[in-house]
Amino acid sequence: MSAPHDTHAPDLMSWVEAANDPGCPFPIQNLPFGRFRREPNAPWSIGVAIGDKVLDLCGAGLVDSGDMAQLLAQPASRRLALREAMSLALRWGGDGQRKLAPSLFPLTDVELGLPCDIRNYSDFFIGIHHASNAGRLNRPDAPLLPNYRWVPIGYHGRASTVQVSGHDFPRPKGQVMRAHATQPVLQPSERMDFELEMGIIVGQGNAQGTSISMEAAERHIFGLTLLNDWSARDLQAWEAQPLGPFLAKSFMTTVSPWIVTTEALRPFRKPTARPKGDPQPLPYLDSEQNRASGAVDVGLEVWLQTAAMRASGNEGECIVRSNFADAAYWTMAQLMAHHTINGCALLAGDLLGTGTLSGAGDGEAACLLEITGGGKQPIKLSNGEERYFLQDDDTVILRGRCERPGYRWIGFGECRATVREAMALPAFDAER
Ligand code: CA
Repeated sequence: MSAPHDTHAPDLMSWVEAANDPGCPFPIQNLPFGRFRREPNAPWSIGVAIGDKVLDLCGAGLVDSGDMAQLLAQPASRRLALREAMSLALRWGGDGQRKLAPSLFPLTDVELGLPCDIRNYSDFFIGIHHASNAGRLNRPDAPLLPNYRWVPIGYHGRASTVQVSGHDFPRPKGQVMRAHATQPVLQPSERMDFELEMGIIVGQGNAQGTSISMEAAERHIFGLTLLNDWSARDLQAWEAQPLGPFLAKSFMTTVSPWIVTTEALRPFRKPTARPKGDPQPLPYLDSEQNRASGAVDVGLEVWLQTAAMRASGNEGECIVRSNFADAAYWTMAQLMAHHTINGCALLAGDLLGTGTLSGAGDGEAACLLEITGGGKQPIKLSNGEERYFLQDDDTVILRGRCERPGYRWIGFGECRATVREAMALPAFDAER
């Protein structure tokens, strides 16, 4: 059995040739999990991305069941063993090629599904620059509320409308209270926004009444996806007091098709420290390991492709660059520990959104609400267009990659969707 770190050796090559291309996001050092199918409406199979192919794990005999929920619920030690087995079998010069080649399919020939059935979805608010910028719009003198530095703020979202990259959706309708109006109107949102986030996919869960400690938290995290928490700001402004987001968020959430595992992220961990003068976390949110390596260095980008760009063959423009480690005030382990401290059960396949991951610098604000100062200053695009908020047929694409000198970079794939025209008013789902 090879040592765990061997799966990260930068000189490892695969017999899947495209995986060795320096521009490929899915080298043998990555091995992210997802679900795919080769025929419409067929059951999903568990796949691992390698180069320009997907490996059918069940077909290759690397797992016994094609049920992703079962795989997620396995202990972290089993996940690590599977990673080592996959790495050995896909390694150039190894003997895996003859056995595995029939279970490899071009990514262009398969449909990618949600990487797992999403059981519950909670969304946090750990981007401190986002919290400050958004708070400043309402409370210029005190943008951060007093609890922010003590408790990871979150709310329970909706799992039924989480979709995988590539699913477009109609602009949502809802109640909007216009400026100077005396009563709200029902209308399509005029302030459609994206939020650049990461999604934590929970592996093994915890029983109700128990809590996950900081020391154990990382073992309960299967891995990370990209996440776009689409937000209708005008609906949100009217409905969010006093209980928080509701219909402004629950119409659509997009995730990338691949879960980059906790094991794959190991070389890209970073220390985390509180800025001088900030309170130290309470003991249940603190650990030595968390201080040494609680953060994850993921470079993030948001690309916008308008209909006009698409018509002229322009693949879009990068409008946000940010980094998970720089943006986040709380770590993944702290979110797991806090979520369960009251005895709440997390389930294998639960999704925890981080919240908008804005950086502090120019070009690092990670939603249009922040970029445009609440819809006051438009963002100017290089083709002459401008945006306060998203227009119909705008496509938003999130991308992420981990890089560190001495290691092969790994990518997350894409998290992409397009806002389409709102459905006619009123449109009600016919009884089925
Ligand atoms: Ca959010």
